[in-house]
Amino acid sequence: MHLAKFPRTKLAHLPTPVEHLPRLSARLGGPAIYVKRDDCTGLASGGNKTRKLEFLMAQALQQGADTVITQGAVQSNHARQTAAAAAALGLGCELLFENRISEPSEQYLNSGNVLLDRMLGARTHHYPGGTDMNLAMEEHAVALRRAGRKPYIIPGGGSNPVGALGYVNCALELVQQANEHGLRIDHIVHATGSAGTQAGLVTGLAAMHADIPVLGIGVNAAREAQEEKVYQLALQTADYIGAAGSVQRGQIVANCDYVGPGYGVATQGMREALLMAARLEGLLFDPVYSGKGLAGLIDQISRGTFKTGENIIFIHTGGSAGLFGYLDEIL
Ligand SMILES: *Cc1c(COP(=O)(O)O)cnc(C)c1O
Repeated sequence: MHLAKFPRTKLAHLPTPVEHLPRLSARLGGPAIYVKRDDCTGLASGGNKTRKLEFLMAQALQQGADTVITQGAVQSNHARQTAAAAAALGLGCELLFENRISEPSEQYLNSGNVLLDRMLGARTHHYPGGTDMNLAMEEHAVALRRAGRKPYIIPGGGSNPVGALGYVNCALELVQQANEHGLRIDHIVHATGSAGTQAGLVTGLAAMHADIPVLGIGVNAAREAQEEKVYQLALQTADYIGAAGSVQRGQIVANCDYVGPGYGVATQGMREALLMAARLEGLLFDPVYSGKGLAGLIDQISRGTFKTGENIIFIHTGGSAGLFGYLDEIL
């Protein structure tokens, strides 16, 4: 794999560290748990979208864009990292928010990521839940073009083959770290939503024949739909990097049993996972993604899916800025 042939803008602090969690591992009494600290990518409190944005923003610049448009939930970590990347590169940023939460709290609407979006100078626009957000972005781009601007549309979550390159690169980085430190990785686990993270990881691992299983813990869709979304993006990503044929359908596995009532809605498992990580390891996860992902990992360990003697890498995809939008739901 030769990723240097794709345009890229440096935004992230890489490589992110891999850290052992001895107290959480001991408490759960099963495998050794390690975290890949992609919450430490460094861009306005970090997270997984920064890796994707290195490739997406480079393409925007290459196309002569002066503004980026993206969409997400109100407390979107992707939107906040996009706002920060745009600020750092001197581009305008238009964030289209879909209101996916019924009866949102004051903090949800104004604190957490939203506070940071505003500080970073992004313009925000609200749409009702159920809006066709891709169409809304197209229409917004038409209006901006009419006003003489040059918009570049970044899909929700930065999940297309260009963004997924960020996680192809993460797969390379992680395997290199494991090789250097003699750390045999038995499983990779992480929260999966718009699919770019898992698609990029699986594609990168498959293309280098690393043969490490990846489990995505869903935060949104049902299993079939989530796996299909990841699979389709992985096929496109493999094509894009010149590794067509390397990804098999069986390599795409999602467990969507931890979504609870819906995307961005708190669950008891998420709350317990957040407090366990905070109080045993001083580590902050987030209520929408990594907290539910960790809740899934904890439950799967208790069910014996992962065993003593195995090494698990949990990819910490970030999002702790969102904690401040979920005050009431956490404590
Ligand atoms: C976006 C996000 C994810 C999910 O990544 P996808 O590439 O959208 O599947 C996981 N964790 C956090 C904190 C995120 O912001």
